[in-house]
Amino acid sequence: MKLLRVIPESMLKGKKVFVRVDFNVPLENGKVKDDTRIRKALVTIEYLIGKGAKITLASHLGRPKGEKKPEFSLEPVAQRLAELIGRKVEFVGDCIGEEVKKKVDTLNDGDILLLENLRFYKGEEQNDDEFAKKLAEPFEVYVNDAFGTAHRAHASTYGMVKYFNVKGAGFLLEKEVHVLSEILESPEHPFIVILGGAKVKDKIGIIENLLNKADAFIIGGGMAYTFLKAQGKEIGKSLFDEKHFEKVRQFLKEGKDKFVLPLDHVVVSDFSNLSGLKEVDEIPEGFMGVDIGAKTIDFFKERLRTAKTIFWNGPMGVFEKKELSRGTVEIAEAVKRATESGAKSVIGGGDTVSAIHVAGLSDNDFTHVSTGGGATLEFLAGIPLPGVEALK
Ligand code: AMP
Repeated sequence: MKLLRVIPESMLKGKKVFVRVDFNVPLENGKVKDDTRIRKALVTIEYLIGKGAKITLASHLGRPKGEKKPEFSLEPVAQRLAELIGRKVEFVGDCIGEEVKKKVDTLNDGDILLLENLRFYKGEEQNDDEFAKKLAEPFEVYVNDAFGTAHRAHASTYGMVKYFNVKGAGFLLEKEVHVLSEILESPEHPFIVILGGAKVKDKIGIIENLLNKADAFIIGGGMAYTFLKAQGKEIGKSLFDEKHFEKVRQFLKEGKDKFVLPLDHVVVSDFSNLSGLKEVDEIPEGFMGVDIGAKTIDFFKERLRTAKTIFWNGPMGVFEKKELSRGTVEIAEAVKRATESGAKSVIGGGDTVSAIHVAGLSDNDFTHVSTGGGATLEFLAGIPLPGVEALK
């Protein structure tokens, strides 16, 4: 993968540089609610300012599905970025066309321009070549720093890249690929993978790819019940993925004692009545497992104590509800402690990042908190990411 850091200064100074960033941030009343993703892009932006580039940033936000919907405008992001970086950030209400071209041509060295939402055009997600060409037209250099969308072959992450001779990965993308490659290629053992959340489907690839590399898979959350059923346990009304049941049985057969499954559960008969929560070893008929139980927490913690490499994706229960967040919070704390004892810990995006914040922990408590959810899982599943491949 070509890196931004090795592009000579002469190829950046005074050049019109397009930077694909991930500014897909939550908005509330027209303001940025959580600016984590904007902060993470600052390293690359500040580097380009230092090199005297004319910087244009582009991102998607939400799912406007190819329509110009004002509630998905990136304008509030321009304001927040300006505050964070302490400089003027220009904004243009489109991402292709004459107006954009004119605006880019007026930029001075070190100036910053933010384009409007790329997904206001269907061509972005469809990777339409006509759109990709228009997107590339005003620029001389391409930089991708959006790891979270690197698993998608979209116009801004894939299609437009072929129009550039000078291209590179920004610092955030570089770090993500570096940390995840280390886990794949040379993890220190014991290497423990913690998987949770609702969907088995998303985690099949990573289990398959790491089955011979990881020492243990700790499985919690809703996906654990398909594994428990495959072991002949009663799971009541808990989540069950029939479509991937056979695959799960196969994993248990091949992986044998590598799979570490819950021993007890917090169960409920009805989600709307959490006052009836019970903790059980065997799930009674009509009940569903919604968090791991106390014995399981101790059991999982014990396994994590000696880990040298930990990858975690997916909560241990329905952590969005406080009453059902104990398992997730305790596992987050156990991963933090393992990190303090010298383990390398990588938290894989999305819900797991929200979960560590629910636990009152911060990114600094772990070795690396990935900005990608799907991208992280696909990378560790050994699937080449189009956004990364395009930079080779
Ligand atoms: P995923 O996108 O597959 O990582 O799933 C994340 C979601 O799984 C979260 O919204 C959790 O509330 C949910 N989840 C975790 N444990 C369970 C469970 N035991 N039953 C139902 N949903 C769960």
